[in-house]
Amino acid sequence: MTTISVASGKGGAGKTSVAAALAERLGPGCLVADCDVDAANGAIALGSTIRERGPYFAGPGYRIARESCFGCGLCGAVCRFGAVRPDGTRYAIVPELCERCGACLDRCAAKAIETCEKQAGELFVSDTILGIPLVHAELAPGGDTSGKLVAKLRSRARELAEDGGTVIVDSPPGIGCPVIASITGADLVVLVVEASSSGLRDARRIAELARSMRRELVAVLNKAGLAPETEDLARAYLAEAGIPLAGEIPFAPELRSVEERGLTWASARLAGEGGARLEAALRALRGAIDAIRMKKEEGKEKP
Ligand code: SF4
Ligand code: SF4
Repeated sequence: MTTISVASGKGGAGKTSVAAALAERLGPGCLVADCDVDAANGAIALGSTIRERGPYFAGPGYRIARESCFGCGLCGAVCRFGAVRPDGTRYAIVPELCERCGACLDRCAAKAIETCEKQAGELFVSDTILGIPLVHAELAPGGDTSGKLVAKLRSRARELAEDGGTVIVDSPPGIGCPVIASITGADLVVLVVEASSSGLRDARRIAELARSMRRELVAVLNKAGLAPETEDLARAYLAEAGIPLAGEIPFAPELRSVEERGLTWASARLAGEGGARLEAALRALRGAIDAIRMKKEEGKEKP
């Protein structure tokens, strides 16, 4: 199995669109894992229908056994997160506010506070219009440990991936724990650089993170043509950092309308030079992925 993580460091840079287009180009044997669990949109981009769903438990939570509680309120006094609230003559813990610090446990003489599984989201496997499975998740409002949810999601993707297949991971924005979980073990990180100053800054941060994790990188410049000076800076940065630039996807309103029709950029037929640049970028990315897959295969065959 080969894992390709598509990351940008920032939201709205076009990584989901690039991930969906690559999945379409790779076709059968490919699987998409949408790891942007705080704002998943892979299911929309790939026109999906849920086939399997299951709860995600972040770890132990706490609840008050009403029958054992005598309403002294000491647990509420010690809770720094305001998670204990009066409930009639007794008290109750609000799961969304509880940080699971365990401080209240020691204060309860009645031993009325007990551990329970805290559901923090849901995990889905869906069928897409491309015929490619999609693994995705939703973090419950106020749910924490999104890095752990990303790890679970990737592990489910690994279980479902075909032998010798490719998993395309749509990474979340930022450089925190969920991104690290989405890049861990990736054979190649496709860095989607949005041609804007914030896009470039965030791409640098994610590139540094990927480098620190010893991941191979290839870049694609998105929304090219909007900010020539920033694009020059992006090209210069990539060259200096030794990150190959696979191609440049032009800014074109037609790309948005392609997605609104439920298609990916791989099916876009842009006219003129824009179309040629898009096609060249997708082909080069596909070539980079094929090269990584081949390298892995050769590695496997070596005694
Ligand atoms: S400390 Fe125990 S007995 Fe007192 S209110 Fe909290 S749960 Fe109830
Ligand atoms: S475990 Fe911590 S955060 Fe949760 S209710 Fe108890 S004291 Fe408050």
